Amino acid sequence: MRFSLAVVTATAFLNGCASGSRKVADDTIAIVGVTVIDPSSTQPAIRGQTLLIAGGMIRAVGPSATVAIPAGVRRIDGRGKYAIPGLWDAHVHFMNTGVTALPLLVANGVTSVREMGGHLDSTRAWQERMRVGTLIGPRIITPGPILESPTYLERVVERSRRGDPRLALRVLPYRIGIADSASAVAAIDTLVSRRVDFVKIRTSGSPAAFLATLREARRRGLRVAAHQPGAVSIGTALDSGQTDLEHAILPALSRLSPAARDSIYQKFLDNDAWYTPTLTVSRAVMLSGDSAARAIFGADALRLDARRAYASPWLLEWWRMQVDERAGDTASTRAASNEEAWQSSLADVRRMHALGVNILAGTDAGSVLVYPGFDLHEELRLLVHDAGLQPRDALWSATIGPARFARLDSRLGTLATGKIADLVLLDADPLVDIRNTRRIFAVVQGGRLFSRNDLDRMLREVRSRAAVPSR
Ligand SMILES: [Zn+2]
Repeated sequence: MRFSLAVVTATAFLNGCASGSRKVADDTIAIVGVTVIDPSSTQPAIRGQTLLIAGGMIRAVGPSATVAIPAGVRRIDGRGKYAIPGLWDAHVHFMNTGVTALPLLVANGVTSVREMGGHLDSTRAWQERMRVGTLIGPRIITPGPILESPTYLERVVERSRRGDPRLALRVLPYRIGIADSASAVAAIDTLVSRRVDFVKIRTSGSPAAFLATLREARRRGLRVAAHQPGAVSIGTALDSGQTDLEHAILPALSRLSPAARDSIYQKFLDNDAWYTPTLTVSRAVMLSGDSAARAIFGADALRLDARRAYASPWLLEWWRMQVDERAGDTASTRAASNEEAWQSSLADVRRMHALGVNILAGTDAGSVLVYPGFDLHEELRLLVHDAGLQPRDALWSATIGPARFARLDSRLGTLATGKIADLVLLDADPLVDIRNTRRIFAVVQGGRLFSRNDLDRMLREVRSRAAVPSR
């Protein structure tokens, strides 16, 4: 039962859960009478449970009548509440959101994230601050810098020179260009030595450079999450070591026969690969016009979307850059093709899920009109209401699913004895209505309890640091 500190401290990412200075006696919590939901099980949720939490871990979970609660322990009345494992957002960009996204995520029940490429020194510094308790934020697994085609990086330099000089400053410091096989091998070696959790490829140059990156990552035991590759087919990429596909699969469904589409899905199954559709950002990019995107900078922004009050100046600057980049496209061609692309994205998820492909819930937080924290709940709603997943399967994609991707499912992802105490207490049943994941009563992360009052205080603090709309 005794929790091994050595195991946890050996894993750099598990910050904040094994604080040696925390007094075990003071941090014991008993959540009594709660309904426990296990997204990995097809069994009905179990009512009347007691969760005993101490030293950052779940020490016991079972019927309230049988779990002994030591004297003097803080009790939380869990009757009428639903406990789900702490949520993950499997696609987040902290370099776009800025640091205020960290408490926003936790305030929304997101206790872990898969960061999708950023400045490794910043991420490590945040992890250290979270470990010592001076910053509240989710556990982070990170690939470090994003691997790109050199052509993309040159284009950023060029666009920045002609337009906004801040673009290059914001984009280039955490990207590595992969020109050929030799630079692929060198880059993977650097990433291994910096102990990243996986590899992220966004754009790919030559097929040789792309495949060399996959080969080397596989040889070094690293998973690879990548956008749909330009260099080779999805099937070839999945066969060659790409373990996760990010964003929509293009072209849209109607331009590819159902059989051709199915053969792509089959490659995921053959390779035990993951799919992170990021429906939230797809919808924002495919369906909302430039005017909608621009309106979020205007005086009416708060009326359009109350979440705008939490957007930091840093995030808004990035959104503006993205909107400016889109401005080159003609709105009419986008509107016509994008409804089709959106429907195609939904059809992909529906069919892949039916076939048994592992789906991960990720938002692309930081991209234009994607709100850190809040939008994980929107991603879950889209997975259920638009892509047809059962609420339990949507929860899987945001709990035990990403924990498995991260190879942390023995410690995270379900509420079981011996696991890290990351959970969200809800006021209503998310299996009845997935929108109930927003009805957060409390969050526990690494055994630390955040009451509704605590969460509201965190939200107020982020608001106070955010950019208020100009009048
Ligand atoms: Zn992304």
